[in-house]
Amino acid sequence: MAKQALLHCSFCGRSRDEVKILIAGQEGHICENCVEHAQEIIVQELNLKNDANAATANFKLNVRRPAEIKKFLDEYVIGQDDAKKVLSVAVYNHFKRIVQKKLADDVEIEKSNIIMVGETGTGKTLLAKSIARLLNVPFAIVDATVFTEAGYVGEDVESMLTRLLQNCNYDVAAAERGIVYVDEIDKIARKGDNPSITRDVSGEGVQQGLLKMLEGTEVLVPPQGGRKHPEQKMIKVDTKNILFICGGAFDGIDKVIARRINTNAIGFSVNKDEQEHQRKNLLQFINATDLKSFGLIPELLGRLPVVTHLDPLDKETLRSILTEPKNALIKQFTKLFELEEINLIIEDPVLDFMVEKALEYKLGARGLRSICESILTDAMFELPGTDTKELIVTIDYAQSMFSKSKLSSLKVA
Ligand code: ADP
Repeated sequence: MAKQALLHCSFCGRSRDEVKILIAGQEGHICENCVEHAQEIIVQELNLKNDANAATANFKLNVRRPAEIKKFLDEYVIGQDDAKKVLSVAVYNHFKRIVQKKLADDVEIEKSNIIMVGETGTGKTLLAKSIARLLNVPFAIVDATVFTEAGYVGEDVESMLTRLLQNCNYDVAAAERGIVYVDEIDKIARKGDNPSITRDVSGEGVQQGLLKMLEGTEVLVPPQGGRKHPEQKMIKVDTKNILFICGGAFDGIDKVIARRINTNAIGFSVNKDEQEHQRKNLLQFINATDLKSFGLIPELLGRLPVVTHLDPLDKETLRSILTEPKNALIKQFTKLFELEEINLIIEDPVLDFMVEKALEYKLGARGLRSICESILTDAMFELPGTDTKELIVTIDYAQSMFSKSKLSSLKVA
């Protein structure tokens, strides 16, 4: 009994009754907490030792020409030709720069971080994600709104690298040429002259925090993220070759552009279609000056040299999004039914109905999925296991299913 009471973990010193498991060694003991901790250290250390060659084994860089990149993007993203072209060239140059960095000459190609401006749900994340998939590099999506200036409640900007590391299993060399998509960059704008932006005291501080990271620096990254694990061993990550793609809706920037190019700002007299059209036309003229007027600091903009825009989604584009991309929604649902050996036929007017509802409820492309779900859920619930071999979705069926759904009770703003 007395001997039992003396047992303790030889690493952390916790006694037998403070831990769940105590494993005996020849001369000491180890508790489950220390085993876990030791395991983390082993994984980190092994990965730290991974050299570039090891990284290429898992993440073999697929450098593609711009035209090839655009062709690939066309398979997944509808429209947005300007953004696709600009992104393809920027990404190509970025990777050319990485691959050729060993050639020592005087010309240093600068990093081409990108900023994409476009309404929410127009495909910004999808574009960034698709590029990462094509190039086979680690990819992380982070939301700029969670960051706060160091020392405040919230996450430090370094945590975006934690996510990148986690997504490639702590393969540091691979992460060092990954892609980080920073969403909602517009939300960290300092208050500009645009009345639609609410003040965010930490905004400018976060922008400052991003500067170094975007340019290229060695950052000590907490592998578990956050500040909750003060004892964790930091991993050093060089951001010199990480491509940062930022995206944001920049609500109201059309007026800033209009002011700059001296055209009339969108008035109240024009109808909705005309407003949409004007906004679309204005966005194509966006440049860094407009983003500065919106509240991004010039230093940050200097590190985001490539500016591009995404068009708002009109009827035709939404219609194509339903059926055309490689993993289009309708293709996905058809596949789901096919797995039940049911032939799903969705009549054309139903597709138009879905698009109308997405526009009416201002749900954009993101809403198309919920609309599809609301129409097909009953069938997906009832049909498996029955003799039904075919489901023809007519407009009457779609309307009745939609009107029963929760979605239809949403108020149209
Ligand atoms: P954003 O990042 O601009 O807010 P996302 O890229 O997350 O928007 O888009 C949300 C969803 O809408 C995507 O997952 C995709 O299914 C669909 N989508 C949006 N735009 C497009 C597009 N241009 N082509 C194909 N699908 C799109």
